[in-house]
Amino acid sequence: MEKIGCAYCGSERPKEEMIRGEITFRDRNPITGKIFINKKTNWYCKDKGCAGYDQMAYEG
Ligand SMILES: [Zn+2]
Repeated sequence: MEKIGCAYCGSERPKEEMIRGEITFRDRNPITGKIFINKKTNWYCKDKGCAGYDQMAYEG
């Protein structure tokens, strides 16, 4: 069975117990040094709210 690691807590769980979450965060352009809003999509635990916690971690 395929297992996926949670981007927040690191648990490895079957795909059915995981959910995709889109995180927005501040990033810096390596060339211009300007701050911009970036997005990425990670896998998180469906039942633990890890996507929300990870978003909060990025917001500081
Ligand atoms: Zn998790």
